[in-house]
Amino acid sequence: MNPERLARIRQMMALRQPDLTVCLEEVNKAHNVAAIIRTCDAVGIPDVHAVWPPAMRENFRAAKGSQNWVNLHQYDSIQDAMSVLRVKGMQILATHLSPRAVDFREIDYTRPTAIIFGAEKHGISQTALEMADQDIIIPMVGMAQSLNVSVASALVLYEAQRQRQAAGFYQRGCLLSFEEQQRLLFEGGYPRLAAFCQSKSLDYPAIGEQGEILANETWWQKMQLHPTKWENS
Ligand code: SAM
Repeated sequence: MNPERLARIRQMMALRQPDLTVCLEEVNKAHNVAAIIRTCDAVGIPDVHAVWPPAMRENFRAAKGSQNWVNLHQYDSIQDAMSVLRVKGMQILATHLSPRAVDFREIDYTRPTAIIFGAEKHGISQTALEMADQDIIIPMVGMAQSLNVSVASALVLYEAQRQRQAAGFYQRGCLLSFEEQQRLLFEGGYPRLAAFCQSKSLDYPAIGEQGEILANETWWQKMQLHPTKWENS
């Protein structure tokens, strides 16, 4: 991996916000999912949680591989997803157009926070609304009743980003686990080798300070390649 790539990945990791996340409840259009995940990456969210509509589960599983920089955690039910977020100690916000919702800009996003976004047609389920701590709304003063879900996510996430920037949350240094850093360095620095490892169910090697692969001869033999062949990978 060249030094520029290494520096770029290290910088990305240092700005990640593991205590901010998104949960998608049956968002069913692939382009909306992709746009939301892209926005998550842009504000430094490392993990997205999702429950897919039943008919879409296989499709979205297949699409997972393209979202390399953001981990996608999939659940069979919204209860399962929200229980995981609750155990992590996050306040859970439901983006929902209800009379009890507060303006999304009134929320303190420097707290560990999970934000739920709902399906294009039906919004967030009653189950999720009952489990959430707070409904939040993006004010609407025109004729349309709601925004596109990916637009709504961008507005809320950039308010969170603004607050976290002001609070110095992007100067905290890397908060990702060592294992996660190693995974990102390998997958980001050596994508072809990482894909090869995945296809052969091989462990990833360690990555050194200079971004070099620290693997023994056995690992390279398992890869059936000599290290020199991958120097410029
Ligand atoms: N008829 C649905 C409803 O009543 O919830 C509209 C769903 S909206 C098109 C899809 C998702 O976008 C919502 O579940 C919510 O996550 C988000 N959303 C859209 N506009 C919003 C707004 N003004 N305030 C909060 N969330 C919004």
